[in-house]
Amino acid sequence: MPRVCTICTHLDRDAIDAALVAGEGYRDIARQWRVSKDAVARHKADHLPAHLSKAKHATETTQADSLLGQLLSLNRHTLAILKEARDGEEKDSELALKAIARAEKQIELQAKLLGELQEGTTVNVFLLPEWQQLRARIISVLAPYPQARLAVAHALERSPYANGHGA
Ligand SMILES: [Zn+2]
Repeated sequence: MPRVCTICTHLDRDAIDAALVAGEGYRDIARQWRVSKDAVARHKADHLPAHLSKAKHATETTQADSLLGQLLSLNRHTLAILKEARDGEEKDSELALKAIARAEKQIELQAKLLGELQEGTTVNVFLLPEWQQLRARIISVLAPYPQARLAVAHALERSPYANGHGA
């Protein structure tokens, strides 16, 4: 029996896709758009990659561009949370670590999305000025958390693109 995806056919599909790309939890998304958590998970696994991949075609490039723009703005938001957790009246290391995890996912997805936008070419996202700035900011806000900072720094170094371009 063919099953219609309630996310693909959703009026707010773009917003839901953007939330998925941003790494929001299935439960949060399901609650916000009143859809089932399973549908969200299935959509992400089965339909989102193809949808992002289709963005390679000129007609949909604008959409992927705007997803990327939203992702960058979410990055800024995440880093603002991180800064607040670090510099706020009450230091909140748990929140800071959550924000770090979120930022890492966003970076991964950003790299994927950039890859989709540039068909057939290897995008060295780590050379982009946005990435350089983001990395500098992540490292700087992580200063009070030496362990997390070390872990993130190691993760960044492991990237095949990072060689020879490390700060
Ligand atoms: Zn779907």
